[in-house]
Amino acid sequence: MKDTQSTPDKDQVNKLRDSILYELKYSLGVTLLTASSSDVFSALALVVRRNQVDDYFSTQERHYQARKKRIYYISMEFLIGQSLRNNLINQGMMEITKAALESLGVDFEIIVRSEEDAALGNGGLGRLAACFIDSMATLDLAGSGHGIKYEYGLFHQQIQDGKQIEKPDDWHSAHSPWLIEHQSQAMIIPLYGRIEEIKDLQGNYNPMWMDWKIIIGVPHDYLVSGYNNNTVNSLRLYSACASDSFDIHIFNHGDYLKAVNQKIASENISKVLYPSDEILAGKELRLTQEYFLVACTLRDVMHDFFLHSTDLNQLPEFVAIQLNDTHPALAIVELMRILVDEHAVDWDIAWDLTQRTCAYTNHTLMPEALEKWSVNLFELLLPRHLQIIYEINRRFLLEVHRWQPERTDLLASMSLIEEMPEKKVRMAYLAIIGSHKVNGVAKLHSDLIKSNLVPDFYHLMPEKFTNQTNGVTPRRWIQQANPRLSLFLDAHLGNEWVTNLTLLTKLRSLASDRDVIAELAEIKKFNKLKLSQIITRQQGITINPDAMFDCQIKRIHEYKRQLLNVLYVINLYHRILDGVVSIAPKVHIFSGKAAPGYAMAKLIIQLINQVALKVNNDPNVNGQLKVVFLEDYKVSLAESIIPAADLSEQISTAGTEASGTSNMKLAMNGALTIGTLDGANIEIRDAVGHENFYVFGLSAEQIAEQRSKGRSPYDEYASNTELKMTVDSLISGFFHADKNLFYPLFNMLVNHGDHYFHLADFSSYCQAQHQALTDYNNTYNWHSRALNTISGMGEFSSDRTIRGYSRDIWGEDSLK
Ligand SMILES: *Cc1c(COP(=O)(O)O)cnc(C)c1O
Repeated sequence: MKDTQSTPDKDQVNKLRDSILYELKYSLGVTLLTASSSDVFSALALVVRRNQVDDYFSTQERHYQARKKRIYYISMEFLIGQSLRNNLINQGMMEITKAALESLGVDFEIIVRSEEDAALGNGGLGRLAACFIDSMATLDLAGSGHGIKYEYGLFHQQIQDGKQIEKPDDWHSAHSPWLIEHQSQAMIIPLYGRIEEIKDLQGNYNPMWMDWKIIIGVPHDYLVSGYNNNTVNSLRLYSACASDSFDIHIFNHGDYLKAVNQKIASENISKVLYPSDEILAGKELRLTQEYFLVACTLRDVMHDFFLHSTDLNQLPEFVAIQLNDTHPALAIVELMRILVDEHAVDWDIAWDLTQRTCAYTNHTLMPEALEKWSVNLFELLLPRHLQIIYEINRRFLLEVHRWQPERTDLLASMSLIEEMPEKKVRMAYLAIIGSHKVNGVAKLHSDLIKSNLVPDFYHLMPEKFTNQTNGVTPRRWIQQANPRLSLFLDAHLGNEWVTNLTLLTKLRSLASDRDVIAELAEIKKFNKLKLSQIITRQQGITINPDAMFDCQIKRIHEYKRQLLNVLYVINLYHRILDGVVSIAPKVHIFSGKAAPGYAMAKLIIQLINQVALKVNNDPNVNGQLKVVFLEDYKVSLAESIIPAADLSEQISTAGTEASGTSNMKLAMNGALTIGTLDGANIEIRDAVGHENFYVFGLSAEQIAEQRSKGRSPYDEYASNTELKMTVDSLISGFFHADKNLFYPLFNMLVNHGDHYFHLADFSSYCQAQHQALTDYNNTYNWHSRALNTISGMGEFSSDRTIRGYSRDIWGEDSLK
């Protein structure tokens, strides 16, 4: 293998070393001798940031001069992870940094590991946003991310007695070397208050939003480097703090404690990320957070726009706002308020401008994740916005009536306001009608939006609906996570693949080259050894690095069906004990967090851990099977697991996973997939070749049909001895002395409808698993198929996805 990296220039290395020492001394107040690894990390990060800042200002000036359209990607979550390695790669500083640290006698890997993950997100949706800002910068778009600077990110997970315990994630953002605080750009955000119904001088209705309270939003820039192109954009994270001026009023009345309490209340707004994924929190504080983000972002939008133009009719030419799910859908209403109330734009014109500016990405079809906010809450928090929503709705329902005058039922079913049982605002409908484009995140998902989620909206405005299949950034998920694979690709393809991932197809011609396959097998082996060490260190379990690593790493959720995976493990365990099978050694690796209030998901974690305890300590298993639950799943842990995976578990009930992105990361790193025809799995299977994908289970269509027709999980259970024995062991005391512990899982499967079709897909899943394990014995063939899998993954770069958004949604023409 040829090493394409050159040796760094000595003067540059010395200069960098001096800069690190300078920051250690003058920014951190330590010497190299007294510095901790986290001090060295901070010093190095400050040096990297200085380089980024120079590029940032030149990028901003260049984009401004070119009058580029600005893209505002608004998201409640950005799941960034660590930044040092990524910034070193993108800034082209990796080799000199390694040399500089070496000259200081400091271990590079220890420094990298000492950075805390920035976990400002729950899972796929937040990680997508992080991949997108990387791709926007790499494609030199004038695209910024906008989010909240949560003081506490996603909780840390500890496992005690098999159970998940949540610990607060204080990521010390106040001391993060990546964040640049801009107190001087603080903005005023009004909340609460009432509407004064008054008329203007011409006698027109001119309601005034009065007596509001004020929160202050303070922007922080986290700089985002493009890959090797000198482009630096920003992710703006806003933190909330209390306004002293609004407190003064109460102070003057002598109510000191009330004033202090209000201060605490407003600072709470950016205190903590809501830890639920695909489930709605429905709390006042959450709605406040959503509005706070949107209001801060729109102040930046208007500020930037007025640098270019004073003619608001040009807004859609200079601005595109992308809503990452409905969480920031209030941007539509806030923009209307700004245009109509603050700039006296005529309603119809304002609505047209708003629609042409905004676009909405739908992420879920699951009813429990669709946002609906109580009208009462709106009235309290955002009375003017509620009025605007009512007016949008009034006009929209007139349009619906003109469209289908006989269908009076549509006036209730398509209304932005749900009447029963409680009056609520349907945020997805608001997002759809306030946007010019609505996209799903994989082909199947985009089709299901049209056919199942909002068919009437689709028929009324079919031109709005499009698809942009998700992608992931190859900078983090190949180059950074898997440096050996990266060198392998450099050697065989040249280094262009990093920004042009479709070049991976060229690997196909090497799939029967024995030396190349041996090289690839060697890389996998190395990565598996490294992960084994982490598993031993973290969980105290020794595993055989030659075993097949079967990985399911993602949030724990019933629809993702970790339970199906465990049922298979239990079944396999029984068969090993019965001597029915002798198998190639296998390790089932699980990692993922459950929402703290999601009892069923937490019970699944406990089951995995109890099964692991039993299986791993059973001498009769003789090391053929191991089960590992790696605690505290996060981006940096994902980067260690993914390069080591042989088999990628993507086994959601068909029609429930919008896209998935770990399916992409794993396949790019040479794991074969076992999966259902769900989300992006379908496109991945077509891209990598059906022979490299272990497909099983009912299709989305079959699931929908069985749901409507009704099925009997009890009969499925009772009529299949293998399945029955497996499911019965949940309540036999086999895995826990308390027989009742896992009864809720048993009950859900057998008596309560098995909503996610575990039982229906069980046999087909076991068969696919069996086939994969058999095939794994043919090592050469397996790695050759891994190579073919990698070669097919070129279209799953987030660069391709962002090009698609740019072309089909943002009308940004610099990429053509
Ligand atoms: C990619 C990623 C996810 C998303 O995984 P899915 O399997 O697509 O749900 C979640 N968490 C982390 C840390 C990730 O890196």
